[in-house]
Order: sequence, then structure tokens, then C-alpha cells
Amino acid sequence: MRISETFYSIQGEGTLAGLPSVFIRTAGCNLRCRWCDTPYAYRQTGGSERTIDSLVEEVMRHPTRFVVITGGEPMLAEGIHDLAKRLVDGGRHVTIETAATLLPRGISCSLASLSPKLKNSIPGTEVPVAVRRRHEEGRLKPDVIREWLDHYDYQLKFVVCSGSDIAEVIALLDALGRSVDPEKVLLMPEGVDDGGFAAKTDGIIAACKERGFRYCDRLHIRLYGQTRGR
Ligand code: SF4
Repeated sequence: MRISETFYSIQGEGTLAGLPSVFIRTAGCNLRCRWCDTPYAYRQTGGSERTIDSLVEEVMRHPTRFVVITGGEPMLAEGIHDLAKRLVDGGRHVTIETAATLLPRGISCSLASLSPKLKNSIPGTEVPVAVRRRHEEGRLKPDVIREWLDHYDYQLKFVVCSGSDIAEVIALLDALGRSVDPEKVLLMPEGVDDGGFAAKTDGIIAACKERGFRYCDRLHIRLYGQTRGR
């Protein structure tokens, strides 16, 4: 498998925040979010080739049962189904962090961490027109999101830049036509440092208080910024 990096750290986002976890970051992504915090994982040619055996062995060396398979877009990675199955069968709790644009196809998964991309993710003129168009056309797949919701324990994470993003989240939840527990809807501020978060936090907390959504901090960025491997 093409792997961008592996590391042992604490989960910084979501309902499992704070738990020591082994991270496996696959290489390659089908999207190109404007605010992506792991741009080095875009490229399918980045990272190195790893066998599933070596990844499983590395995971098992760490004193935690929590594993996070992330990206890039992990559902693109060849071998992802075998890797996830080996880890779940081995007693690990496996979170798959995906933008939910690709079907699960029966993947073994303890928690599907779904992060559908809102309009605020659309890149600007810094990327070629074709890349922007591919992102716009591919970023939101309601049918795929429903497949994940219907078959897995999940959390829905949204990166929020402004109040209009929250309205977009509410419209998407309505359009999905599923009974989504608001506690499983996580709103997190866009930003790469504390200053960036601060400007957005008040609006997000107000929406959480009104709707019952969960405010989601980004602990790993507060602690480590955008440093790789932490
Ligand atoms: S889906 Fe994730 S890895 Fe891909 S561009 Fe968006 S933020 Fe970056």
C-alpha cells in the first residue's frame, strides 16, 4: 500500500479526542480542499510502499487499541479493506476518516468518521481549472454518505468557516433523509492555529447550543500545528 506516514499520537478531533492512537495515513486524494491541512498526502506518488503485514505489525507494537486510518482519502488505497479487516479481527478499534465520496464496500470499521466537504472547501485560482472542477463535481455524494450512515457507527464532521456553512450543514442533513442524532454532528473551526480558530468559535458554539450539535476542537493543531508525524 502507498502510505504517506504512520505515527503514534493522540486523536485530536471527534468523539475519541484525547485517546492515544496509531495513525496510518494513506497517500493520494480525489479532492483538493482549499484549506487542506495535509497537502503532502494529496499525491498518490508520495510516501512509501508498505505491506499490510508490516503495518499490522507496527500497530500491534503500540499499547493502545485505537487505530485511525486517514489520508488523503483512505478509501482510494488499494488494500484498505484487507488492512482494516486484519486490524479489526486483531481486536483494534479502527476509525476510518473519509470524505465519504467513495462507497464503503463492506469495509471493517468500528467508527466511520465522515467529513463531507462544504462549498468552503472549493479551491481558488491557485489550482488549475480542471482540478477545481473535479473537486466541485466530486466533493459531495449524498448517496455515498447514506451508505455509510446506514451501515456503520459514525460521526459527521464539518469544517466551518462562517455562518453560511452552518446553514449548508443543516440543508445537507435534511437532504440526507436520515435520522441523524445531532450529537453525532461535529462542527469544527477551520484554521491552522489558535488565532484562526478564535474568530469562528463563537458562531459555532451558538449553533451547537441551538441545534444540539457537538463543538469539535482541533487538539492536534493546537498542540502541534501542522507538524508532520505528531
Ligand atoms: S479530502 Fe482531506 S486530504 Fe483530501 S484535499 Fe480534502 S482535506 Fe485534504
